[in-house]
Amino acid sequence: MKFSKKISQLKPSPTLAISAKAKEMRKSGLDVIGFGAGEPDFDTPLNIKEAAIEAIKKGFTKYTPASGIGELKNAVCEKLKKDNSLVHAPDEVAISCGAKHALFNIFQVLCQKGDEVIIISPYWVSYTEMVRLSGAEPRIVEAKEARGFVVASEEIKKNITKRTKAIIINSPSNPTGAVFGKELLEKIARIAVSKKIFVVSDEIYEKLIYDGEEHISIGSLNKEISKLTLTVNGVSKTYSMTGWRIGYVAGPLDIIKKVGALQSHSTSNPSSISQMAALEALRGSQEALFKMKEEFVARRDYMVKRINSFKNVSCAKPKGAFYLFCNISGTGLNSVTFSTRLLEEARVACVPGIAFGSDRHVRLSFATSMENIKTGLDRVEAWLEKK
Ligand SMILES: *Cc1c(COP(=O)(O)O)cnc(C)c1O
Repeated sequence: MKFSKKISQLKPSPTLAISAKAKEMRKSGLDVIGFGAGEPDFDTPLNIKEAAIEAIKKGFTKYTPASGIGELKNAVCEKLKKDNSLVHAPDEVAISCGAKHALFNIFQVLCQKGDEVIIISPYWVSYTEMVRLSGAEPRIVEAKEARGFVVASEEIKKNITKRTKAIIINSPSNPTGAVFGKELLEKIARIAVSKKIFVVSDEIYEKLIYDGEEHISIGSLNKEISKLTLTVNGVSKTYSMTGWRIGYVAGPLDIIKKVGALQSHSTSNPSSISQMAALEALRGSQEALFKMKEEFVARRDYMVKRINSFKNVSCAKPKGAFYLFCNISGTGLNSVTFSTRLLEEARVACVPGIAFGSDRHVRLSFATSMENIKTGLDRVEAWLEKK
């Protein structure tokens, strides 16, 4: 079969082989402990589920405007103003089928062959592929572990060319949990404004931020940068709503209009029912979020402390999100071999760092119960001792 060039160049995810193997092992009756999860292990809060049930009962089950209902856009604008000091009108917001979809649309609208997009490594797996699907080329800029995976603005500057169209920032970061402070964001904003480069700011982990760290939206820093910023967020991670598929982007009106146009010819509106659920998530009680966050902190602290006592591995304490990016270079194994052997020999699943651009790390998620974490880490410890 001769596939399109676009599709042929898509890289198969290196995480797939390992998660397939973990599944197979579980099916055959082995108790595999999974640290691979990319979503909260908590249930969607009841008030949100009830809003969805209500929507179904009321017959809110038809097409909505392609880029989302006005009321949800209003709620997003209120949220952006209150939490992020971002001022947007409802028509500067598009609701999509998850933040991933919002990101995909943005690159389709902004980029084409000949363009470059700066991606900071370690990066979320989909950025590089989404950029390539738009025809543009990713340009990888490394955020060094020695700097807590926080990129140096000079590194960004060095990698800007005449072709640079946009830069993606993701704070708090998946997979490292790094949080970008105000000073750095101001420097990035200055670069973007002086070179007229768009900033795509993926803020999906905004609320999962710890130790009194503050989340700052780059688009809120000044008027010039606000005109170049696409702020992406959603309800998936904050409200344990990954399956509901609601995300959004806020930005300059002309870009948002094009996002809406593209969406109107591809997915049309995101699920009407999910939109009502997202409305409740944004406007209703935030109690469940605070409980989840508290639990994440306890798990993180436990995991970091134990892992740093293990042989040949180490990890920094992440300031946000729900992942540990562990350095495994002391084991002498690359990330795929490490993950494969850990799974086969110790029945513990993790994600090889190569998926995020680093072969010296693996990603362990703490979106799993404390009980699983304890058992899983016991196994990892024993396996590292034997190895
Ligand atoms: C999970 C995730 C997303 C996508 O979330 P949606 O479920 O599509 O809203 C986007 N960016 C990062 C970094 C993520 O981890």
